Amino acid sequence: MRSPPKRIYNSASVSEEDCVFCKIVAGRLPSHKVYEDAKHVAFLDINPFSEGHTLVCPKRHGETLWDMDEREIAEVFRVASKVSMGVVAATNADGFRIMQNNGEAANQAVPHLHVHVIPSKLEDKGRFTRIKLDEGQMARVAGAIAAEIARQADP
Ligand code: 5GP
Ligand code: ZN
Repeated sequence: MRSPPKRIYNSASVSEEDCVFCKIVAGRLPSHKVYEDAKHVAFLDINPFSEGHTLVCPKRHGETLWDMDEREIAEVFRVASKVSMGVVAATNADGFRIMQNNGEAANQAVPHLHVHVIPSKLEDKGRFTRIKLDEGQMARVAGAIAAEIARQADP
């Protein structure tokens, strides 16, 4: 038997009440939502690496992969895969990155498990820096992604 994993250090750790993504899940903070089901929500990253950069979260607060059971882990990646199809189609991207950070040492800034879906175009190959989008651009791309996910679910 393997011993249980140790907790992953993150100085940003907070209670659910103070968790920014729990606030988004509860609608207490605004976000550009692109997808929601009973257990997950997906919304645009406020400081994206590319147009359409989306975060997929389980609604249940858990900080890292180690706080979720195997089913929850499988489900959040299944949703990320589904969301990626809408993100890539809506942004006319050529590929996408999946990123998921656990703990401060891995650059996790928000202590609520989330999977990044980051679309990428061939012309941007190799660039991995944050970009600036205004509210109008964010709203437009969120609408396009949401519509694409809905269209793919019900063609
Ligand atoms: P991490 O480094 O924890 O994997 O990623 C956290 C991500 O959340 C960052 O890319 C950051 O831009 C994004 N983020 C931080 N605060 C907010 C917020 O209030 N709203 C949204 N939509 N994204 C956020
Ligand atoms: Zn939370």
